[in-house]
Amino acid sequence: MEHPLIIAGPCSAESREQLRHIASQLSDIPDITMIRAGVWKPRTRPGGFEGLGEPALGWMQELQAEYGIPFCCEVARPEHIELCVQHNISNVWLGARTTANPFMVEELSEALRESGIQVMVKNPMNPDVRLWLGAIERLQQCGITVSAAIHRGFSMYDNRGYRNDPLWEVPMEMRRLAPELPLLCDPSHIAGRADLVPSVAQAAMQLGFDGLMVEVHPHPTCALTDAQQQLTPSTLAELISSLPKPTANQPAAPDLSALRSRIDELDHEMLRLLAERMDVSRRMSALKRDAGMSVYQPKRWEAVLADRLQQAEGLSLDQAFVKEILEKIHGESVRVQMES
Ligand code: PEP
Ligand code: MN
Repeated sequence: MEHPLIIAGPCSAESREQLRHIASQLSDIPDITMIRAGVWKPRTRPGGFEGLGEPALGWMQELQAEYGIPFCCEVARPEHIELCVQHNISNVWLGARTTANPFMVEELSEALRESGIQVMVKNPMNPDVRLWLGAIERLQQCGITVSAAIHRGFSMYDNRGYRNDPLWEVPMEMRRLAPELPLLCDPSHIAGRADLVPSVAQAAMQLGFDGLMVEVHPHPTCALTDAQQQLTPSTLAELISSLPKPTANQPAAPDLSALRSRIDELDHEMLRLLAERMDVSRRMSALKRDAGMSVYQPKRWEAVLADRLQQAEGLSLDQAFVKEILEKIHGESVRVQMES
């Protein structure tokens, strides 16, 4: 395992003193790859702190030369890129709201062409891996180096206790589609709460992410943005030291072949059962039609769901997981009956 890439710093650059303070604290933590600081802040509602713009870039330029650690910030408009070039900021990221908009990504790609700036791309607000990959491809088509994809979670109707639901299967799909691209996790925007950040970060590292982007503030409670989720530098240092250590000699891979063949058998069996289940649905469809019954029977579906969830509980299966699978199966059963 390689050393994880660690990008840390405040949600927003708030003053020269705050940036100097955090740069000095972070420079004492080994393995900090880059310092982040938001210069232009996308706010959900108007009236909040929207970032300090160009003066903040000036302080970042000064401090990166002084501490020898590169700074990075979010860019959302072509003017931002011009200012980054002027201030020697050569690492930027596209935020979730920008990645979601192909017109903006196109415009930024043009502005970044030949700038020498490396770009990280956060996932879009919605769990659409193709939209995320599309933004990366648009940049790459303009000859821009995309240095990482950053997973910051997704804004869902039910975020299951997170600020942004991690839906880990989405970044895992990104890894499959772009295996060479470093994948970072932003546990701060996923968790939304400082106390939850370490467990999200650990989960990401267990899943094989290449590193983290973590919000850190010298005095989190006084932060002008995202006060609840920022760590202190000492909590970050603890978090980093609790991550699995890189090993010079990889331990021998365990022999998984027997367990893997059992998984193969079980998957094949599940698919065979699903095919049989859809066959039964098809047979039922004609009977329902002849009897003038509608395909979807809400009472029956309710009873099926309750019964299976009860069984799942006895089998110690996660209720939300089983419910999601059953909803998918039921949806497909309805579709198959409509088509028959
Ligand atoms: C941020 O990193 O401060 C930020 C606004 O992130 P996101 O685009 O993930 O919401
Ligand atoms: Mn933030």
